[in-house]
Amino acid sequence: MSLETRKYTTDVLIVGGGAAASLAAFECSEAGVNVIQATKGRATSGTTTVARGGFAAAMGPGDSPEQHLAEILEHGGELIDPELARVWTHDIIQVVKDMQSWGAKFVTGDDGELDLKLFPNHSVPRAVHHYDTTGNMVTKVLSQKLRSDDRIEKHSLVSIVDLAIDEGRVVGAWGVDYGEGALVAYSAKEVILCTGGGSGLFYVNDNPPQVTGDGYVLGYRAGCPLLGIEMIDFQAMCCSPEELFGFAPHPTGFINAGAVFRNQEGEEFLKRYYPETAEKSTRSEVILAMAKEIHAGRAGLTGGIYMDATKVPVETIQKIIPHVYKTCLHRSIDITKTPLEVAPGSHTWLGGLKIDMDGKTPVVGLWAAGETAGGIHGGNRIGGSALSASLVFGQRAGKAASKEAGKKSDPPPADIPEDAGDWLQGLMARRNGPLQSDIRLNCRMLAHENLGPIRTAEKCEEAIGEYGRIEREDLPNIRLADEAQGSNKILGQELESALSIKNLSLLGRLLGTAALKRQESRGAHYRLDCEETDDSSWRVVTRLETGSDREIEFSTDQVKDGW
Ligand SMILES: Cc1cc2nc3c(=O)[nH]c(=O)nc-3n(C[C@H](O)[C@H](O)[C@H](O)COP(=O)(O)OP(=O)(O)OC[C@H]3O[C@@H](n4cnc5c(N)ncnc54)[C@H](O)[C@@H]3O)c2cc1C
Repeated sequence: MSLETRKYTTDVLIVGGGAAASLAAFECSEAGVNVIQATKGRATSGTTTVARGGFAAAMGPGDSPEQHLAEILEHGGELIDPELARVWTHDIIQVVKDMQSWGAKFVTGDDGELDLKLFPNHSVPRAVHHYDTTGNMVTKVLSQKLRSDDRIEKHSLVSIVDLAIDEGRVVGAWGVDYGEGALVAYSAKEVILCTGGGSGLFYVNDNPPQVTGDGYVLGYRAGCPLLGIEMIDFQAMCCSPEELFGFAPHPTGFINAGAVFRNQEGEEFLKRYYPETAEKSTRSEVILAMAKEIHAGRAGLTGGIYMDATKVPVETIQKIIPHVYKTCLHRSIDITKTPLEVAPGSHTWLGGLKIDMDGKTPVVGLWAAGETAGGIHGGNRIGGSALSASLVFGQRAGKAASKEAGKKSDPPPADIPEDAGDWLQGLMARRNGPLQSDIRLNCRMLAHENLGPIRTAEKCEEAIGEYGRIEREDLPNIRLADEAQGSNKILGQELESALSIKNLSLLGRLLGTAALKRQESRGAHYRLDCEETDDSSWRVVTRLETGSDREIEFSTDQVKDGW
């Protein structure tokens, strides 16, 4: 069986369908350049759709972008690029107004002003929200606007597998239309990567399944430095009751409502770790304490920690986390009567591709925005930051990339590279060898077991070695499921998954390398064998690049001081 190849030419190719990609697409459309938005999911998809509590914008009385900036810098493990954070805290205010003008109905008070929520580590209420389903509201507005804009060509169910490079500059990309079973090649003057974070590398995560860190790997392979990729925001996800397995109940909302965390002995252990802040500690501190309790054998029956809202009045729960309350009730769990057992899983990634204030990477023709971009959150992010920054940098990248595209002549035609074509033919013909789905699962379990919230040099080395082995030994021999022989659609899906293992295994090696090299604990990165923060050696941002021998080249960037 062979697949047809479809070829497209455009000014700007946007990869992704979340907040960053949508805002970028609107700017390209506004600027009048040709734009294609190719996304693995639907036109509006990704983690944006499941965002919950709200996103930060300094729009309350007495608040200011500079105050917002100061609080972001204070909690960022000293690794944030202040120039990026500054444009973000300023721009987000106009973005909120734009979204309101497009029809977003964020919650307002009786006076018609935005009802802003107070999130931990913010000094004032700052989170624009739609109760605990903010992502739904954002998605609704963005998808309505996308649907009504014919100037944006939308390619859904298309997974971009790699970038097309000509003489060191990005000139397009290629991938698989797995909805219909076809290969696709795009020639583009500018490519904006908005593929979200890398949580799909972890077996336990709360992201939609399409979010697998592809942008990090595509950018890295094209020559863009990858910054701070070891910094991952782990969150509490349910391991019990069974009906809720994998559900991420949003601890910030629980904490805001007055819930506490308890270990197997019933102890409110956060008070022992952080006597002054306890449940109000930063997200990474809470997760680390939770992981340490589990590691110390004080976990509950199914290996997690109890998030206990049984002493919180039901009216408070219904007001602050109505969606979580209803979701649990729907599965016959009343959180006002039953504590949830939760364990850390991958939630958002804090590092990413190096960008400037407009989302431009050092590689000509390549841009990045949203969770794919680095430097914005440093070593830790305070609640409401991820969506806020994704919206802003998506908009900035779209605006700047369309301007740049206007100055360039057409790119050379992009095609599926010869070696990739040969690999694909071999893959489709093969009848023996490990199933691609099994290797994919291996990649995810490896990260879960070795690169989670508690790391050691030994575990990192084990992961790097095993990912390397997968790349060398498994990848050349993997095969597709037998069902792919009879259907182009299943063939497309199997191919998409098989191709993405190349990216997943390299991502695991990149994450393992950065986590191994940072021999200290800081922000969201914790090394059991190097527990102290070491400012003399490690107040720097880790940087991974493709070396001349195609091996991972490690270096560090000095941090820029705030002002
Ligand atoms: C459960 C949950 C709750 C959250 N709540 C909040 C919150 O309340 N406030 C907050 O600020 N943040 C929150 N976040 C984080 C925030 O939602 C995300 O960081 C943000 O939405 C990311 O937006 P994005 O556009 O960068 O990526 P995404 O929205 O994840 O979009 C990525 C897109 O890229 C596509 N894609 C991926 N790979 C490819 C490929 N190879 N080819 C083509 N397309 C590809 C995907 O299909 C998807 O459309 C939450 C996250 C989770 C998981």
